[in-house]
Amino acid sequence: MTSCFECQGGLLVPAKVSLTGTRYGEHFTVKLQGFRCEACGFETVDSEQSSELTKLISDAYRTSHGLLTGKEIRARRARLGMNQQEFSLYLGTGSASVKRWELGQVQDKAMDELVRLKTDPEAARANLKTLERQIPEQFVVSEGREVTLVFTSAEHGQYVHPHAIIVEKLAVYQDDLTIPDSCVAA
Ligand SMILES: [Zn+2]
Repeated sequence: MTSCFECQGGLLVPAKVSLTGTRYGEHFTVKLQGFRCEACGFETVDSEQSSELTKLISDAYRTSHGLLTGKEIRARRARLGMNQQEFSLYLGTGSASVKRWELGQVQDKAMDELVRLKTDPEAARANLKTLERQIPEQFVVSEGREVTLVFTSAEHGQYVHPHAIIVEKLAVYQDDLTIPDSCVAA
């Protein structure tokens, strides 16, 4: 049993403690398993518990800013059946990022948005609806059938367009609506 660093006299005993930490200049108070001094009431955590404290403070920050917590990111990854490495590749982030977020590092808003779009069908659908409202109808690609469009150009020879699709009977490119005369649907 350790004696209290505050009053030097009391004993620190295991207890549920309430501690305040700071993340990006904001203060958050969280409850976790730690130690309380029997004499003066001083509350603290040991080095093992302090990583849990860091995680909880990060999660409190994330919750208050509408970001996914570490646990939520982990749960979404698990739902896709991916390990951290696979999930990183899927998101296109560095391989260490997912690990750090799950351990408590706060992801930025853009990455949070990307995680939602790539793990939540409802968020992806809502995004698609927004896109369809923003983009003229002939550019809507969601209903289309994917096709291979092959055409020849003097410059490139025979060329397969990578993003061609069929929307009803109109062949379109996601990046270019002009269809060269030499273009044939295969
Ligand atoms: Zn004390």
